[in-house]
Amino acid sequence: MPMDSRPQQNVSQQQEAWKPNQEVVAVYNFNGSTQEDLPFKKGEVLIITQKTKDPNWYRGKNSKGKEGMIPANFVQKRKEVQLHSMPWYHDKISRDTAEKLLDPHRSQNGLFLVRESVNFPGDFTLSVCFSHKVEHYRIIYRGNKMTIDEESYFGNLAELVEHYSNDADGLCTKLIMPLQKKGSSFSSVVSAQDFQTGGWSILPKDLFVGELIGKGEFGDVYKGRYKDHQVAIKQLKDKNSAQTFLKEASVMTSVRHPNLVQLIGVVIADTIQLVTEFMGKGNLVEYLRSRGRSVITKKDQINFSIDTCSGMQYLESKALVHRDLAARNILVNEENTAKVSDFGLAKYGDHSLESGKFPIKWTAPEALRESKFTNKSDMWSFGILLWEVYSFGRVPYPRIPLADVVMHVERGYRMEAPEGCPKKIYNIMLKAWELDPKNRPTFKEVLEMLKEEGATTV
Ligand code: ADP
Ligand code: MG
Repeated sequence: MPMDSRPQQNVSQQQEAWKPNQEVVAVYNFNGSTQEDLPFKKGEVLIITQKTKDPNWYRGKNSKGKEGMIPANFVQKRKEVQLHSMPWYHDKISRDTAEKLLDPHRSQNGLFLVRESVNFPGDFTLSVCFSHKVEHYRIIYRGNKMTIDEESYFGNLAELVEHYSNDADGLCTKLIMPLQKKGSSFSSVVSAQDFQTGGWSILPKDLFVGELIGKGEFGDVYKGRYKDHQVAIKQLKDKNSAQTFLKEASVMTSVRHPNLVQLIGVVIADTIQLVTEFMGKGNLVEYLRSRGRSVITKKDQINFSIDTCSGMQYLESKALVHRDLAARNILVNEENTAKVSDFGLAKYGDHSLESGKFPIKWTAPEALRESKFTNKSDMWSFGILLWEVYSFGRVPYPRIPLADVVMHVERGYRMEAPEGCPKKIYNIMLKAWELDPKNRPTFKEVLEMLKEEGATTV
């Protein structure tokens, strides 16, 4: 998972107090009957600015800043969609290994784990202790649904485990105790239903899909309209990547910043579509390359750098790690504001280093060597991104073959300053490329330096 977030507590909806500036979504149209009222349409996102003495009414505003009274039962609170962790999921271990781990002679009934099926690729196996033996149940994965008995079907493993934890329902026993996978890397899933209950779902009929504007790894990107907004629509192409896709969306439900591409909602129907704000000038690397020195000014360069750094500083403050920071993942809107996107895509699984898709030239040495992805490894990538901005979108480490980059970098080789790059900016790059992550600056520190440089750039 590219974006690590701190474990978060699950607070029950009812008991939770309203936060200031709580986002809500309209569940019905509201025309209002007095001047005081704020009329709105079903699906509109509103901000509650104040509670009133009357629990049936809030004071709030709409996206255009218009304020007024909002009837409480016409709106639903917008919630973050959280990942459900699966500490009992052990990836691809064999039947023998599962039996050794579960140790049925000494373990209680109902101790269980889930693993990838060795005999049926793509399926899973539930292994449970019962009467000093281990029972193995095949979990059939068919058309996006999982089942053991071909009677009860589940959207994902977490839902299946929850069901059989409450009721044996034909198994030898209820699932009582998970056998936790050792180590720090628990798997997690996100449930499509949480987007609905969290107020993030968009109905297909409200969405107009227009021209194709980009191709992503997991889906094509279209320009479109949702209510009064221009939007970008990313359409999942391979159903097996649904989880990866929804994980990106779930991270996006928990962040809001002017320099992060904003999620508007998710369509969950025959296909999954991720709807985000539209960024008219496309991705930063193509923008830099196509306009070049004749159009892009020093001021533009420093502004793109400051924008990106502000977005990253916000992620840093939430202890979220991007893992794939690069100019190709920065988008630019018509007002020339740069925003960070593509945060949260689990693109790089365990075998990613061999897959050839790993962004080696952007990734910090410790992240490549030991998979240590932190805000400091993001800082390394930010240094590369600065180099891209000041070289008008060149590919980093020109003339060094990809296979040799890591070796050169570990021996101390660093890229030269791009032509015309201010000295202060190059110094930030060098600090970002300190071998020891501890010696790299924070995004907060770099943001200050960039703003100073920005103040003197005309
Ligand atoms: P991936 O990271 O899976 O390759 P992206 O999300 O980066 O896919 O999308 C691919 C391309 O589509 C981007 O490089 C960009 O040109 C375009 N694109 C993506 N999102 C938007 C958006 N919100 N507004 C405008 N263009 C976009
Ligand atoms: Mg991308």
